[in-house]
Amino acid sequence: MDKDCLFCKIIAGEIPSAKVYEDDAVFAFKDISPIAPVHYLFVPKTHICCAKKITAENSQYVAKIFEAIAKVSEQENIDSYRVINNCGEDAGQSVMHLHFHLVAGKKMGWGEQSLG
Ligand code: AMP
Ligand code: ZN
Repeated sequence: MDKDCLFCKIIAGEIPSAKVYEDDAVFAFKDISPIAPVHYLFVPKTHICCAKKITAENSQYVAKIFEAIAKVSEQENIDSYRVINNCGEDAGQSVMHLHFHLVAGKKMGWGEQSLG
């Protein structure tokens, strides 16, 4: 846990969130500013700042996140979806705790502004 990290505080329950999924390794909750009818954030329950810091030692969290995404989307009958990871400032990463956006419920285009 990083005491200054927003998502670590959400995982610890210090900041409220609308939880959609939790297991021993993964926590998922609704994005506070959704860009689509379905917009969830999947985060590892350990502080990893960003995709750049994924290693052989912690990559099981990424696998578990994708397993969780498959479970939640099946449970919620989400047939078509997009998974997004922003890494670094220019890519739009605003919270420095690794997270994957699950976005669904609308027709999505492809290209730089496709989700704007
Ligand atoms: P990114 O821009 O990829 O770093 O994504 C960070 C996401 O966190 C944004 O989509 C924000 O809307 C979302 N966010 C920020 N604060 C909260 C919060 N307290 N609860 C839920 N989502 C949040
Ligand atoms: Zn954190």
